[in-house]
Amino acid sequence: MKKEAVLLASAVFAAMLLGGPAFAGPIAVVAAENFYGDVAAQVGGDKVAATSILSKPDADPHLFEASASTAKALAAAKIVIANGADYDPWMEKLLKANTAPGRREIVVADLAHKKPGDNPHLWYDPATVKALAAVLAADLSALDPAHQAEYEKGNAAFAASLAPLEAKIAAMRGKYSGQPVAASEPVFGYMAALIGLNMREERFALAVMNNTEPSAGSVAAFENDLRGHKVRAMLYNAQASEPAVQRLVQIAKDEKIPVVGVSETEPANTNYQQWMASQLDALDRALSSRATQ
Ligand SMILES: [Zn+2]
Repeated sequence: MKKEAVLLASAVFAAMLLGGPAFAGPIAVVAAENFYGDVAAQVGGDKVAATSILSKPDADPHLFEASASTAKALAAAKIVIANGADYDPWMEKLLKANTAPGRREIVVADLAHKKPGDNPHLWYDPATVKALAAVLAADLSALDPAHQAEYEKGNAAFAASLAPLEAKIAAMRGKYSGQPVAASEPVFGYMAALIGLNMREERFALAVMNNTEPSAGSVAAFENDLRGHKVRAMLYNAQASEPAVQRLVQIAKDEKIPVVGVSETEPANTNYQQWMASQLDALDRALSSRATQ
């Protein structure tokens, strides 16, 4: 054994004896959804290795089923982030089936005081994501106290980085509060509420989210909103492609009602802040184009 190796071995042994942090590498964080994995990476920087299970913007997250590789990713996790509110029930099952002492489990719905039956697209409220970042910083600090200052700095930087998004929401609230819109699914719901939009046709949106057939009455009401120009814009879930939704999108286009696609999963090569800002920009353009007509 070389001298360096002996020194390293004794240092590791000493750390074990002291019961101090003996982390050989970054802290493994597994997020059920990629926007939460993004937040973990932003808060923890290079001290964190974040893995996300749902990361494909072209698949419907409501239909996801866990596989053996999902369970494998979880096995090494020190921190697990789930959305909850029935958005990722597979994660709850996996955690129950594979208990690990010391593993920290963060359920975002608990932070937002939401339960099954509430709109599960919780990350569309920046305040909820900010609360997650703070809990992550606390959990990372508990697991790795030596780097607590860095985690606190990461959390503060993340919170500060949301300021432009919050300002944009406030500005749009000033311009568009009370404006009627409709959506194919309640993906954008929390942000729409922050802007003060009057969200119509929620019966249709809930049916589509739950992958049930929207009732004839709710389809007719939606169609009537579009043909009667009772909404300023139509939001649709770009990640799901139900024929009933595609048909309504086409009617909106025919009626020259601006259509805005939103997604459930964070697209590649972007981050949470940029993703939310670009969707707000698209909605801003859509609503301002109608306001002048
Ligand atoms: Zn959804």
